[in-house]
Amino acid sequence: MPKIAMNVPVVEMDGDEMTRVLWGWIKELLIEPFVDLKTEYYDLGLVNRDATDDAVTVASAEATKKWGVAVKCATITPNAQRVEEYGLKKMWKSPNGTIRRILDGTVFRAPILVNGIMPYVPGWTKPIVLARHAYGDIYNSVEAAVEAGQTAYLVVEDGEGRELSRQVVHKFTSPGIVQGVHNVDESIASFARSCFNYGLEHKLPVWFGAKDTISKTYDHRFKDIFNDIYASEYAQKFEEAGIYFLYTLIDDVVARVMRSNGGILWACKNYDGDVMSDMVATAYGSLGLMRSVLVSPDGKYEFEAAHGTVTRHYYRHLKGEETSTNSVATIWAWTGALAKRGELDGNAALTDYAKRLERATLQTIEEGNMTGDLIPLFRREGVTPVKLSSRAFLEEIAKKL
Ligand code: NAP
Ligand code: MG
Repeated sequence: MPKIAMNVPVVEMDGDEMTRVLWGWIKELLIEPFVDLKTEYYDLGLVNRDATDDAVTVASAEATKKWGVAVKCATITPNAQRVEEYGLKKMWKSPNGTIRRILDGTVFRAPILVNGIMPYVPGWTKPIVLARHAYGDIYNSVEAAVEAGQTAYLVVEDGEGRELSRQVVHKFTSPGIVQGVHNVDESIASFARSCFNYGLEHKLPVWFGAKDTISKTYDHRFKDIFNDIYASEYAQKFEEAGIYFLYTLIDDVVARVMRSNGGILWACKNYDGDVMSDMVATAYGSLGLMRSVLVSPDGKYEFEAAHGTVTRHYYRHLKGEETSTNSVATIWAWTGALAKRGELDGNAALTDYAKRLERATLQTIEEGNMTGDLIPLFRREGVTPVKLSSRAFLEEIAKKL
């Protein structure tokens, strides 16, 4: 067959460790034989981030703004141990954080459902897409330890430093702790718009919960911004699309999510999203089946897997041992990016190829060929699951494709 042509490149962000190995194999076995792949390549592997003083990360995010679609491999976020391991010039910031800041994006995570892999919550037959507001609250807080007899205040000044208000947080009669958190309307508003846009694009109802009954100014502002933007910009479009927006208390949202069949976009405040995304991912089976996309308010997309670089498998791989690392979420990063490229460029053949690759991957697992992490989760009449190595799994998909 002639290879499928691409007119516009995707921004390719290469990464680290085991996922970097899978990255190369996915391209070699599943993409390049079928697609005349056009990418603008950025090496976000830690070695090159260090060599470029992290300029490569910024450049890759700028390229995403230019071209509109990126695909990213998992990358190491350095800690003290990594600084030593790689002899780094400094402890570079999380590339995902840097890219998110530049694109002002929201991260949407969704499970990949496979016949034979049952979610721990049996009612969840459709995916729950989780959106996390990735700005502010406790993640940009100031905190202090306080001794008995001390008093903590919440003080607000105007631009000239004149005091506008002063509230007692607490007069401490015994030792304790105090915390100051903030958020900004603009960030909440762009989060709300990103969620409503995603809901419309994927025909998913949007649920959002906060604790406005207790937090009458702070959480209430989140509620007001979501409700106002929905009413003025989205209500009609949602009605036409046959979907809806639900705001209710966060505890009520949790109860409703548990009882639901999935098929919703769950918008979460920063902390709720941090915690609930791990719960939702686990409940659907495996971190290796969680896909993730960063969407900016002006419609730029960066597709990736939700998991990390799978370090433990990589060290075994380096010793020449065979690994059985799940590449499904990384395949979905590629299919997400190529399908989106096809959609934006009117390149139906490319979008069709991406869907075929997804189907071939699902069928491979459904017929019993999978990586080790999925074996204990797999139950299907008459099918005995077989554990394949990282590369053999990809070769099996290639045959089917
Ligand atoms: P991880 O790479 O997600 O792996 C944690 C464990 O989960 C693995 O050891 C493995 O368990 C299992 N696992 C995760 N993905 C798997 C897959 N695709 N197939 C099979 N098993 C999988 O998390 P981590 O070990 O905490 O972090 C490693 C590095 O990744 C860190 O340097 C971190 O900074 C980075 N990271 C990057 C991203 C990102 O770029 N988006 C996200 C998270 C972490 P077993 O060992 O039991 O098989
Ligand atoms: Mg978390």
